[in-house]
This record gives sequence, structure tokens and C-alpha cells, in this order.
Amino acid sequence: MITQTKETQAALNPNAAWELLKEGNKRFVDQNQTDRNLLTQVVETTTGQYPFATILGCIDSRVSAELIFDQGVGDIFSARVAGNIVNEDILGSMEFACKLAGTKIIVVLGHTSCGAVKGACDDAKMGNLTELLSKIRPAVKAVSEPADAAERTSKNIDFVNAVAEKNVRMTIDNIRNQSPVLKEMEDNGEILIVGGMYDISNGKVSYM
Ligand SMILES: [Zn+2]
Repeated sequence: MITQTKETQAALNPNAAWELLKEGNKRFVDQNQTDRNLLTQVVETTTGQYPFATILGCIDSRVSAELIFDQGVGDIFSARVAGNIVNEDILGSMEFACKLAGTKIIVVLGHTSCGAVKGACDDAKMGNLTELLSKIRPAVKAVSEPADAAERTSKNIDFVNAVAEKNVRMTIDNIRNQSPVLKEMEDNGEILIVGGMYDISNGKVSYM
């Protein structure tokens, strides 16, 4: 495993970038992580960075993109916000990452037992969290089953995880609808925009 350079980044197409992440998660699950010298990578990336992927994930302490995809210094842009939603600032970060810095893929990564999703399911209100959770509420409403209100709370983990998956899909739609820059790149085949769900019980990412 080498540190990404301008040449290695340029040589990757979006599908190959996706494969690199899938292989990385398999190494993580198999406990076969790449033996890296991180400080060597620090030195090697001093004059520039050529990451191949942009990952939008949750702030959850168990879902570190670099760890679960077995990536090193300079490999990925990692945007993290509770509930892996987008707003203008996250979209701007992604546009920088793809259009200006050359990453080939955007992964929206949800996860099981997400606290932010649970909060949205329960329609929790607290400070600035209220506004954040309002961005997940459309996913709660979009999951129709179960219909019984008593079953549509954070206590029903199957419901919570269904909302988390729907939230990933709706976030991808929001990226396409709210960022003409990224939509055009996707339409031109310059990037992929994909979704994944990380299972906090076994370390596996399932792909949508
Ligand atoms: Zn979460």
C-alpha cells in the first residue's frame, strides 16, 4: 500500500476507487490491516494530498472512516456530522474534494443504531440539535412501516435501522439535487455517488 500521489489518483476511475474501499473494509473485518508507517505517510504528504475518496459519515465514535476502510494518511476526505446529512457547508466541502482535489467517489455512510437517527425517530428537541434532526425527519416520515406510532420510536431498532438506510438514500438524492457541480460530475462519469451502511456489531459495510 503506497501513499496516494497525483499519478496514482489520476490513474483511478470511480469504480476502482469503490473497489479500494471495499477491499479496505474486508481487510478491517478480516483483521488483515495494511501495515503502514503513518509518520512516513505524513512526510510523504507534506507537499500535497491526492485522496481518492470522499466519505460522509456520522460523528459516532465507532464509525471512523479511515479505520473501517483501512486507509492511511492522505487517502480520503472524511466529512462527519451526526446523522450524515448534508447542508451547504458539507456540499461545499464535497465540491472542493471532488472538483478541485480530484476524489473519484462520494460515499454516504450510515450506520446501525445511530443516535442521531434515534433522536429523529423520537422527534427530540434540544438546542441546535433540533435543527440538525429536522434534516433526518424526512427519512423517518418516508419509512411507512410499521404504521403503529408506538412502534415508530428509538426502542424499535429495526425501525431505527430502516430509517438510517432511508436517510442515506435521501442524502444521496439531496447531493444530486442541491449540488449541480457534483451532479454534473456524476453524469459525466467523473465520480460515483454511492451509499453504504456500517454494522456496528461486526464491522462490515453493506453496499447499496
Ligand atoms: Zn450516528
